[in-house]
Amino acid sequence: MQSNSLEERLVVILATGGTIAGSGDDVGYVAGQVGVKELVAAVPALGPRRLESEQVAQVDSKDMSHEIWQALAQRVAHHLARPEVAGLVITHGTDTLEETAYFLHRVLSPTKPVVLTAAMRPATSLQADGPQNLLDAVTVAASPQASGVTAVLNGRVHGPVEVRKHQPFMLDAFESGEAGPVALIQEGRLRVLRAWPSCEAVGVARVLGPVAGWPSVAVVASHAGVDGAVVDAIVATGVQGLVIEGTGNGTVHASLLAAAQRAQARGLPVWRATRCPGGAIVGAPDGALPSAGELSASKARIEMLLGLMAAV
Ligand code: ASP
Repeated sequence: MQSNSLEERLVVILATGGTIAGSGDDVGYVAGQVGVKELVAAVPALGPRRLESEQVAQVDSKDMSHEIWQALAQRVAHHLARPEVAGLVITHGTDTLEETAYFLHRVLSPTKPVVLTAAMRPATSLQADGPQNLLDAVTVAASPQASGVTAVLNGRVHGPVEVRKHQPFMLDAFESGEAGPVALIQEGRLRVLRAWPSCEAVGVARVLGPVAGWPSVAVVASHAGVDGAVVDAIVATGVQGLVIEGTGNGTVHASLLAAAQRAQARGLPVWRATRCPGGAIVGAPDGALPSAGELSASKARIEMLLGLMAAV
């Protein structure tokens, strides 16, 4: 049974690597070096908390793989099913955190909180932000108010659809665009601003098949001077779907559009997203490729991947 006291509510921390587990100086560090037990031990305020931890992976998240996603989804589903577990924290690299958050949201959409957290500075930095982020993430994961997949960084709780890394180096690197954060963590307390994320999840069974058999979905950027031959070459590799990262309101260069339409004629789904970091694509002119709406190209890729997996 779960207790009502924050300190007594059991939180499971699953570690996957990233800068939060990095060692070295602020630029020349190696991500994914420090084990989860050491990360927890470095935060004295976590001492009284009821925690379990598990090392699921130890990677720089630029190298995040479908294999790790599959293992992570299974471990998250396993711990969510334990009645004594109040919530989960996943430590992750910042580079692809938003993709993993969206993947877990669409696969599991849990009622218990699953909180991804990360750091912009390695554990050895003078400005290490990992310890506070980890403490805040555990607070959210233990909170009876919280639910769904979120990302906790720099005092903000972001939703999985909106969260984006928008700054490559500064400590305040994540935002939720126009939607704003779901909640703030102030002095260890949650200040909830809007509804917690939920969706109709596809279910963990969808992602349990051999990863080598997962459909291949590519992302191609539209830009000045782009040649549609890029799309033809990618289609020739045998991909099963394409997301075009368009410009502005999901507009696509004529050369790329012609190639995208050739791909569509071969039966491939092709969607258009926008490279604009804020806001969703509005409307659809006649003949336009289907719109990814509010999803970034990398999240639209996940949505298409999960859709194609249903058909496998
Ligand atoms: N490259 C690192 C990673 O994503 C960056 C970070 O964690 O801040 O794992």
